Amino acid sequence: MRLIFLGACREVGRSAVAVEVGLRRCLLDYGVMMNDSIGFPTHISPKDLDAVFLSHAHLDHSGLLPLFYLRRRLPLYGVAPTFEFTRLLIKDFLHLSGYFLPYEYVDLEAMMENCTSIPYGKEFDLAGVKARLLNAGHIPGSCQVLIEAEGKRLLYTGDFNTNGTKTLAAADQDYGDIDAVITESTYATTDHPDRLSVEREFVSEAAEVVERGGVALVPAFGVGRSQEIATVLAAHNFKYPVFMDGMALDATEILMNHSSSLRDEDLFRKAVKKTIWISGWNDRRRAVRTPSVIVSPAGMLKGGAAMFYMEQIAKKKENGVFLVSFQIPGTPGSVLLEKKRFMIQGRSRKVEAEVKQFDFTSHGGRSDLEAMLSKLGRKVKIFTVHGEETNCVRLASWASKELGLEAYAPRPGEKFDI
Ligand SMILES: [Zn+2]
Ligand SMILES: [Zn+2]
Repeated sequence: MRLIFLGACREVGRSAVAVEVGLRRCLLDYGVMMNDSIGFPTHISPKDLDAVFLSHAHLDHSGLLPLFYLRRRLPLYGVAPTFEFTRLLIKDFLHLSGYFLPYEYVDLEAMMENCTSIPYGKEFDLAGVKARLLNAGHIPGSCQVLIEAEGKRLLYTGDFNTNGTKTLAAADQDYGDIDAVITESTYATTDHPDRLSVEREFVSEAAEVVERGGVALVPAFGVGRSQEIATVLAAHNFKYPVFMDGMALDATEILMNHSSSLRDEDLFRKAVKKTIWISGWNDRRRAVRTPSVIVSPAGMLKGGAAMFYMEQIAKKKENGVFLVSFQIPGTPGSVLLEKKRFMIQGRSRKVEAEVKQFDFTSHGGRSDLEAMLSKLGRKVKIFTVHGEETNCVRLASWASKELGLEAYAPRPGEKFDI
C-alpha cells in the first residue's frame, strides 16, 4: 500500500491523500485552502482514480471535488448528510468565489449524481479494497475511513473529536489492528477546556446580556456549529428567544431529515422548535430590537447577514458578540477579539458591545490525540497532517520519542510505502 500526500501537509486546508493498492487508486478528500487567497492540493487526474472517500462536508476537505466531474463518472463515498451539506457549502462557495474556481455549478450537480452514502460501521468492498466509515464526532455525517487491502489496514481520521458534544457522540475508536494512521493535528499542542464548563459559562453570559436588555450575536459556521449552539442553549433550558439566520437554517433543515445520526434526537428537535427562523430583512430588523440570542453564519465574521447584525449590535454596550470558533489571525473576527474594532461600511469602528470567545471545539486536543495514538499498538506508522507546521512536527516527534513508533509530518508530494 502506498500513500501519496497531496495537501494539508504542515498546514490546515486542502486535505488530500491518494492511496495506491496494486493497480487501484483511491483518494481521501480533495479540499481547498481558505486563507486570503484560495489554494488547491497537488493535482491528480480523475482518470487515475477508482474511488473517492469524503470525510466530511467542510470545504477544506470537499471544496475541489466537483473538478473530478467535468466529464467523468467517479464513485464518491461518505456518510449522510455529508453530501447534502457539501452541496450547500459548495453552492455558497461558487456564489462568493466562483471566479477563482476551476468548476461550475453543473459539475457540482454531476458530483451529486455520483455519490453514495454508506452507514457508519458497514463494511463495503471496492474490487479488492475493503472500506469502513466510522463516526468522527466532528460535524454531523463526519467519518474516519478504514481501508483494508493486501493485508494492510490504514486509518484516516479526517477531522475528529474524541469528546462528545450536545449534538454528536464521541469519535468511534474501535479500530482493531492498524498498520498506518493518517491523523489530523489541528490542536496537537493545545488542550481544550472542560466542555461542560464552557457550555455553562456561555449560557449564563448569554442570559446576562438578554437580562440587561441586550442582544447576543453568535456568528457561527452554518453547518454543525450553529446547530450545536442552539442545542446547547436548549439543553441548559435557556428561556429567552433564540433567532437563527441564513445557511444555518438550510443546514438545520437537512439535519432534521437525518436526525437519527445525532446523539440526542429529542433534544435537537426541542432546540429546533425553540429557534425562531429568520426569513428576510423585516425579521432581521425585528430580531435586533428583541433582547435575544441571534445565531448567524459567518464563523470569522467575513460576509453574510452577520455584517448587518454587527453594524446594529456593535455600537451598544449592553449587547454582546460571542465568538464560538477559533479565529484565524488576520480575519475580522480575530481583529475584533484583539482590538475590539470592526470594519463597518469601510471604516474601522470601535466596538462598544461586550466581545467574548468560547472554545466550542469540534476537534480533539493534545491529550486526546496522544491518547488515540497510544492505543494503536506497536507496529503502526504515523503520519500527521491538517495542523500548523509546529503541530504536525510536534505530534510526529512525540509519537517517535514517547511511543517509539515510526512517525512523519509529510510534505506535499511525499510518498510512503506501508
Ligand atoms: Zn472540518
Ligand atoms: Zn478540516
